[in-house]
Formats: sequence, structure tokens, C-alpha cells
Amino acid sequence: MSDKTIGDSLREQGISRRGFLKFCATTASLLALPPAMIPQIAYALENTPRQSVIWLSFQECTGCTESLTRSHAPTIEGLIFDHISLDYHHTLQAAAGSAAERAREEAMKKNHGKYLLIVDGSIPTGNPGYSTIAGISNLDMLKEVAAGAAAIVAIGTCAAFGGLPKAAPNPTGAMSVSDLITDKPIINVPGCPPIPIVMTAVIAHFITFGKLPQLDNLNRPMAFYGQNIHDRCYRRPFYEKGLFANTFDDEGAKKGWCLYKLGCKGPTTYNACATTKWNDGVSFPIESGHGCLGCSEPQFWDGGSFYKPLSVPTIKVHDVMAYTAIAGAAVGLTVGGLNAMKKTNAVKQHETVTIDDLERK
Ligand code: SF4
Repeated sequence: MSDKTIGDSLREQGISRRGFLKFCATTASLLALPPAMIPQIAYALENTPRQSVIWLSFQECTGCTESLTRSHAPTIEGLIFDHISLDYHHTLQAAAGSAAERAREEAMKKNHGKYLLIVDGSIPTGNPGYSTIAGISNLDMLKEVAAGAAAIVAIGTCAAFGGLPKAAPNPTGAMSVSDLITDKPIINVPGCPPIPIVMTAVIAHFITFGKLPQLDNLNRPMAFYGQNIHDRCYRRPFYEKGLFANTFDDEGAKKGWCLYKLGCKGPTTYNACATTKWNDGVSFPIESGHGCLGCSEPQFWDGGSFYKPLSVPTIKVHDVMAYTAIAGAAVGLTVGGLNAMKKTNAVKQHETVTIDDLERK
């Protein structure tokens, strides 16, 4: 850790008290914390020594770092990364060769048990010589650095779940961080790449509270991965009405209808793309006309089948009931129509039925 606090660093850079408090308020709202927590965040950030961070990159494409550096200043991303002590990062550090490795070793020694380890990329275990840094295999380096870390953040789907390198036939024996390290707190921040603000909010939480935020069953922060894309998608009303684009250039696509039939994985993908969006809140893939690829889920890439729908679209039961009632009325409420309504009413309120079911009725 640096002796300087984040508050010292902010003052040196001429950031006003008002600007700092705005930053704290943004952090609280991103993490779904009540406004009452803002003074606690401000106190922690002003008085905590700059957090030491060691960032290891293994089998990856540098997209996660690219995502982070594509932030628009001044933002929470810029503020956080200006004010942590990023002691080792292959791509961003100025030092190279033995000087870089010395920096890593010194940071590990000085901050033993306190530094945050960030990992992007999966770890090849099939052949220890396949990927090395300074002659050390990725697996050995992960174990060595993880041993002294306070916690680990697995950034990107490759580090969190294995990602693209782990796709069949997985020639390198790629594994995720949590496949290999089981005795440290680990938070997964998946995505290919992850949203920059999600990465920095997780780090801000750790700096402020000295622990990881609330996680879901896949160790992802609930504040960002607690709901699926589908539940927050602005095209959802079209889905509910059964209005779908069937090709990328048909009338439905031009009118902005739901992309489910074009393979959108929004219903099974948990991430914050539909709310925080990308490029400083400008847009996200579905808004630019392409379905969600499901990149923050464990089955990405093998389970992708990008342009193959998950199944047939589903709509809510109350729509089915309305549909059935209209159909029933149209045929003079025949016995068949009454039977269909009876069957539909037996389904629980929150269950869904497929469009095929409807068409069969
Ligand atoms: S299926 Fe995709 S495009 Fe359609 S509402 Fe859900 S997330 Fe949005």
C-alpha cells in the first residue's frame, strides 16, 4: 500500500470536495447502497491508504484492460484507477523484464495479506510451458500471488469461468481462477469484456468496506448481475406482445422489435448491460440491433449458438389468457375454447407458455 490516502491524491489533483462527494454518491448508487452510506464511503476513501493491486493477465485477448481504459474521464473508472496503487499490470506498467517482476515481488512482500489480486484470462493447465511470464508458468504465478492476497477479483469470463480458451476441445486445459484457488475470497466479474464501471465499483466497494460485495451463486456481485438482461431490456414490451424480428433487416428489425428469434440470449444472461450500458452510457448490443450473446454466463462460448434461439419465445400467462379469451370469443366460446381457458387458468400466474403452445390452441 502507498502511504498516501485516496483523499491526499484527490486533493493533489485539485478535485474539489463537491466533486469527491459526487463520486461517493455515484459509488453508493452503483452498488445499490442507501444514501446513508455516502459519509461512510467518503470517510473510507479519504482515510484509507491507496489500495495495492496486482493484476495478472493469462490466456486473454487484453479486451478486459481495453474495456477499462476506454472509459470517459472524469468518471468513477478514472478516479478509482488514478487512486489505487496498481503495482503490477503487464500492459499498463512502464517497467519491463526483471524490473517489472521486482515490482511485483516488492508489492507482494510489503503488502502481504492486504493486496487485491485481479486476474484476467484463464489458466492453462494442460502444459505448464504453454504460457509463461518471466519463465514462471501461469499456474505457478497464480498460486504464488494468490497466497498473499486479501481477495481475488476474476475479471472477464475467461478468468471467471474459463471463457473462450476453455471452449471445446480446450487444447490448453484452460481453467478458471475458482477452479484452482479455493482458499481465498473470490469475486467473479464476467463479461467479454466486463462493463468498466462494474469492475471499478467492485474495487471501490473493497476499498471502502474491506470486503467483497454481496454475491450471487456464481460469485458475481448481485448489484450488477442480480437481474437478467431480458428483465431490463427496453424491447421487452415487444416480446410480451409477440412482436419479433425474423431477420436482421426485416420490418420488425427496423421497428426495433424483440430479437429473441434471432438468437438473443437476454432471458438467460445476468448482467447490467441494459441499465449501465456501454461507452459512457451510450448504448448496448441490443440497442444497436444485435441480440445478447450471453457472454457473462458460464456456458459462453460452447453454449452460445449465437443465432439459434434458446427455444421458441415465451410470453406471460396473463397474455395467454387474453389471447385464449379472444380466440374463444371469436368462435362463440365453443367447448374447445372453454376447455382451453380452463387449462390455462390452471397454470400458475408466473409460469410462461410458448408461442407454439398458443398456436396449438
Ligand atoms: S429476448 Fe432479447 S431483445 Fe427480446 S426483450 Fe429479451 S433481452 Fe430484449
